[in-house]
Amino acid sequence: MGPTRRKAVTLLLAAMTALGLALTGVGIAVPAHAATQLAAPLPDRTYVLSSYYGPRCMPVAGSSTFHLGQDFGASRGTAIRAIAPGTVSRAGTVRGFGEWIVVDHVVNGERFSSLYAHLVNATKFVKKGQKVTRGQRIGDVGSSGTSTSPHLHMEIWKGGYPTGTAVDPLKFMKNRGVDLRSLSTRNYARTTPSSCKYFTTAKVNMRSGPGESYKVLRTPQPNVVIKGAPGAGSGDWRQVTRNGKSGWIHKNYLSPGYTSQGTRYVLPASLNMRAKPSASSKVKMSLPRNAKLTMLREIKGTWQRVRYNGKNGWVSARFISDTVGGAQVVPKASGNTYSWVDKKSLKLRKGPSTSSGAVMTLRRDNRVRHLAKMKNGWLKVKHGGKTGYVATKHLTSRKP
Ligand SMILES: [Zn+2]
Repeated sequence: MGPTRRKAVTLLLAAMTALGLALTGVGIAVPAHAATQLAAPLPDRTYVLSSYYGPRCMPVAGSSTFHLGQDFGASRGTAIRAIAPGTVSRAGTVRGFGEWIVVDHVVNGERFSSLYAHLVNATKFVKKGQKVTRGQRIGDVGSSGTSTSPHLHMEIWKGGYPTGTAVDPLKFMKNRGVDLRSLSTRNYARTTPSSCKYFTTAKVNMRSGPGESYKVLRTPQPNVVIKGAPGAGSGDWRQVTRNGKSGWIHKNYLSPGYTSQGTRYVLPASLNMRAKPSASSKVKMSLPRNAKLTMLREIKGTWQRVRYNGKNGWVSARFISDTVGGAQVVPKASGNTYSWVDKKSLKLRKGPSTSSGAVMTLRRDNRVRHLAKMKNGWLKVKHGGKTGYVATKHLTSRKP
């Protein structure tokens, strides 16, 4: 490039910058300019699209029926890059998302946040409060939190996280010049079906509204087919139909698959396998914690027939889980319901969070009385005249 031409280009750039600033100043979007401000969160052709943003059927019992982000399947350790310049507002670990990072951006006067979840190395490259540049490596793809395989779950929050609105990341990025669909190697994401088919995981109450105070309309048996619409729910409750009649069921009791198939794991320290579906029936053997059970098709009430080490028998379905060391079935908080501490020592806390102070320390096998069920997997309980909160995952409903 000769000196004359370079000067002309410089003048042109100066003119464009002035124009861009002027337009931004009066609040008019400048798409061509914006396009240069965003980068893909993963290197080109290192990822597949695995799940779209939007309403969906619950992929596992207890999950959300609206996917707030876009999932990108990628190898563990793939570098994740900030999609725009900004400031890290969160970097650490949180329930569900596992290791996560949130970056707050203002690009051409538009405020938004990008959220990256299920990471590894979320605190290796960046920390809270740090400024990052577009395309800077902030963490790596992992499978931390509630995740079954390595992937990046990315959310975009217009107006900022968490007070703004989560929008479709693919559309948001494409409208600003980055087509993540065409930069992926495959597309495994399925479009939203018109209706979802679930199975009840236990004998469960179907109610007239989204809460335990609503009237019980009917009580379907385990493994009854329930229909729902993608996205139809309120909080932890799903709006469903059974034989054409509508009602509400808690999300923890609806599974996309027949419950008595595949394998489950023993939750408490030990669980009796019995000859018949009754607590008074002969004990055939004692199953250890996390014993892998093969589900047989017979179900009676809350009893499930299983196979373990070549022997068949019955166990109470309340004490088996989809996952190794999985969350306990939330015990009912009513009247004289008790649980036992299933941990060497457990803090009874002032509030339903691990950041709350301790009232006292409970020991294994201490009995607690249920006072109220919290929304986030915590219980308000009483022990030795003291009241506080514990996470239900550290309790067992089986008397030791
Ligand atoms: Zn996701």
